Amino acid sequence: MRAYVFHGPGEAAWEETADPVLSDSTDAIVRVDAVTVCGTDLHILKGDVPEVRPGTVLGHEAVGEVVETGRDVRSVRPGDRVLISCISACGRCRYCREAMYGQCRGGGGWVLGHLIDGTQAEYVRVPHADFSVHPLPANVTDQDAVLLADIFPTGYEVGVLNGRVRPGDTVVVVGAGPVGLAAIATARLLAPERIVAVDVATARLDAARKAGADAVAAAQESPEQLVADLTEGLGADVAIEAVGVPETFEMCTRMVRPGGRVANVGVHGKPVTLHLEDLWIKNVTITTGLVDTHSTPTLLRMAAAGRLPAAGLVTHTFPLDRMQEAYDVFARAADTGALKVVLG
Ligand code: NAD
Ligand code: ZN
Repeated sequence: MRAYVFHGPGEAAWEETADPVLSDSTDAIVRVDAVTVCGTDLHILKGDVPEVRPGTVLGHEAVGEVVETGRDVRSVRPGDRVLISCISACGRCRYCREAMYGQCRGGGGWVLGHLIDGTQAEYVRVPHADFSVHPLPANVTDQDAVLLADIFPTGYEVGVLNGRVRPGDTVVVVGAGPVGLAAIATARLLAPERIVAVDVATARLDAARKAGADAVAAAQESPEQLVADLTEGLGADVAIEAVGVPETFEMCTRMVRPGGRVANVGVHGKPVTLHLEDLWIKNVTITTGLVDTHSTPTLLRMAAAGRLPAAGLVTHTFPLDRMQEAYDVFARAADTGALKVVLG
């Protein structure tokens, strides 16, 4: 088959490689019908994720058709259309029983395209298939489903659910990249009073409005003042950090009201200062975490009900064999306007 193979920092190619084979009785082999390029893939390609070894097939968001299953796979059969979760988990260990699939200790917890081969390929082996692929409702398109493998569960679980968004809340989402936009779209489902999006890029603020933000503010102007004005000086009920730099985390802690919640989603490349000397008296709750994809079945039901038009984030599509071009378009998002790039 052909696949996009990582060969070390700055080097990867769409090339001929061995077909994946069943190596465990709980594996499934899936033919990839749609796959994305994600911000994490760019980090891996730059060499920021040293545990990814040369020779690894990249990619961790995909939908496709099951072509073969190990003898112990019960939940899917060849011919089924499925969403492949970005995390492959055993489903039986202590963490999996608490739906913390990202922390799986039962021989899973792998993110595809990291320690095991990923989805930017014609075929992929999915370990622990019963817990790691989800049959697709017939009326959910590949493009609406594919972002539910990672981006949408991330915004929803680590942003909206950890932030405990409630009806009537003022929710601020700092960072309107794909993850922040997914947080906006899924926060919308919980009937907040308003959602305010903050970003440095005008195009991203436009995308935030389309995803469901009621108000937008440029980070360079005074988003904190806007939030104060909208909330009678109190601040936001929930502030979701979806950038991953210390300034935006600190901005969230300043924008949240006393008794509010800060949900950090961003992956920080450097240390972040937590100003407990100011925060303790505000009774602020701060959460952070790795996506578990426990919400994927819920999000799939919402998509089937027409409540989650995730494909609205897809700005570019390519056939699979134009992977390199897709990476280039995605990496130059400021020029190309790319949000999510889907191949298939
Ligand atoms: P992205 O880089 O595509 O988007 C980030 C957005 O933040 C961009 O629109 C950018 O213009 C904006 N931005 C940059 N600096 C800013 C500033 N100072 N103020 C306001 N906005 C600013 O990233 P993404 O793919 O949307 O991911 C967002 C974050 O979520 C990243 O840190 C990513 O690593 C992280 N992430 C976390 C998990 C998890 O499990 N917790 C999973 C996936 C991604
Ligand atoms: Zn487990």
